[in-house]
Amino acid sequence: SDESDWEITDLAGEHEGEEQLAMPTLAVVGRPNVGKSTLVNRILGRREAVVEDIPGVTRDRVSYEANWSGRRFWVQDTGGWEPDAKGLQQSVARQAELAMRTADAILLVVDAVVGATATDEAAVKMLRRSKIPVILVANKVDDQRVESEAAGLWSLGLGEPRMVSAAHGRGTGDLLDDVLAALPETPREGAGAPGPRRVALVGKPNVGKSSLLNKLSGDERSVVHDVAGTTVDPVDSLVELGGKVWKFVDTAGLRRKVANASGTEFYASLRTKSALEASEVAIMLIDAGQPITEQDLRVISLVADSGRALVLAFNKWDLVDEDRRYQLEKEVDRDLIRVPWAQRVNISAHTGRAVQKLVPAMETALESWDKRISTGRLNTWLKEVVAATPPPMRGGRLPRVLFATQAGTRPPTFVLFTTGFLEAGYRRFLERRLREEFGFDGSPVRISVRVRE
Ligand code: GDP
Ligand code: GDP
Repeated sequence: SDESDWEITDLAGEHEGEEQLAMPTLAVVGRPNVGKSTLVNRILGRREAVVEDIPGVTRDRVSYEANWSGRRFWVQDTGGWEPDAKGLQQSVARQAELAMRTADAILLVVDAVVGATATDEAAVKMLRRSKIPVILVANKVDDQRVESEAAGLWSLGLGEPRMVSAAHGRGTGDLLDDVLAALPETPREGAGAPGPRRVALVGKPNVGKSSLLNKLSGDERSVVHDVAGTTVDPVDSLVELGGKVWKFVDTAGLRRKVANASGTEFYASLRTKSALEASEVAIMLIDAGQPITEQDLRVISLVADSGRALVLAFNKWDLVDEDRRYQLEKEVDRDLIRVPWAQRVNISAHTGRAVQKLVPAMETALESWDKRISTGRLNTWLKEVVAATPPPMRGGRLPRVLFATQAGTRPPTFVLFTTGFLEAGYRRFLERRLREEFGFDGSPVRISVRVRE
């Protein structure tokens, strides 16, 4: 075998430099089942199977490296997105909005057999504001018969539908030529930066979410001016903090204090999930005056699963005395083990104590969440760590860690190529060392392992 090609020693040098950072990104969006994943696989020209993911973690956006006619670019796959509590239309529109912020060109995939649905139209409505190129893909045009139906998609107003069959490869070469023509040589300046960043305020009932929102927004002064390039959902609030505008998502319930009828716990968890899905960074409130409860732990686990950047706000600090403070530290050590990387701010929404400190904490967390480590730096580091502490034996064999690459950001997602299974303990060790080396304060980090036989 030519396994030696995969030695870290050989590859680290080859990937020196930051050239990977300079690759433009193509985002693939559309509703479920239109064939996005099939198309992404077709673009990559291979079956990318993530052999092993960290259990309990939902994959939402992963970037893969593609190469067509000698040009390299990232393909951002949004295939794993699930419709949230508020329904598919909003979910797909938000996916499109996110792509407009992060990508250099967008493929909107529509199922030509089904035709344009209301959900497709919701995505189109969002994408019409896009300043970056949007290419409409009519997928599942497996033969000529479907072509006439696909022509109906002109009505979406995104120009000519590119007719392809992702499953059979029909038309995909021409599509990729169009993609290359649309993609800039290098990522646009400040990609991912424009528009207000989206914040979710989460925490169990009565922890002080609406009090905090009111404190931050100076009561009534905040909301409702449109900011260029963004949509302000009536359920969101724009708040100016530290000289920047932030979008607090799903705040309608907080402002109006809807009487939660029945099934409160279930309802609250749906709301939390939906806010998290719409956000980039979460501020999770914990009542510092009371013992941490089961309800807090459930919210923490939703936050941890969401993959969002996180700031922990210990609210009601005005009620905390020496004794309580001592107890709280013990509870934190015991209960916050899933998010040890989150920064902590002790605040009082009531008195306004330290609420301004939430801003730099959110900024740090988002910086970590967006961070990309070049393949060269990553592998230089990996080689040293693995040489000093090799993975434990499995079934009498020593798995070799061959190579790593950062497959995505938001949150940073790393893929390790190995010759065998890596135990969870060793992956946690690598994550700890990775954090020590590169610093990801406030952000989760995901590590997948791909085993090469
Ligand atoms: P996604 O949810 O948008 O990522 O969609 P998938 O890629 O998972 O595809 C959904 C279904 O459509 C799968 O059963 C695919 O096999 C099927 N599919 C994808 N592309 C085509 C195509 O070009 N023609 C046909 N007939 N089926 C396709
Ligand atoms: P929400 O359900 O999470 O939106 O919580 P609220 O903002 O409605 O707050 C619930 C209760 O906690 C209200 O009576 C608030 O006045 C009180 N509260 C909120 N923040 C603080 C705080 O920092 N200190 C104290 N002492 N009480 C607070």
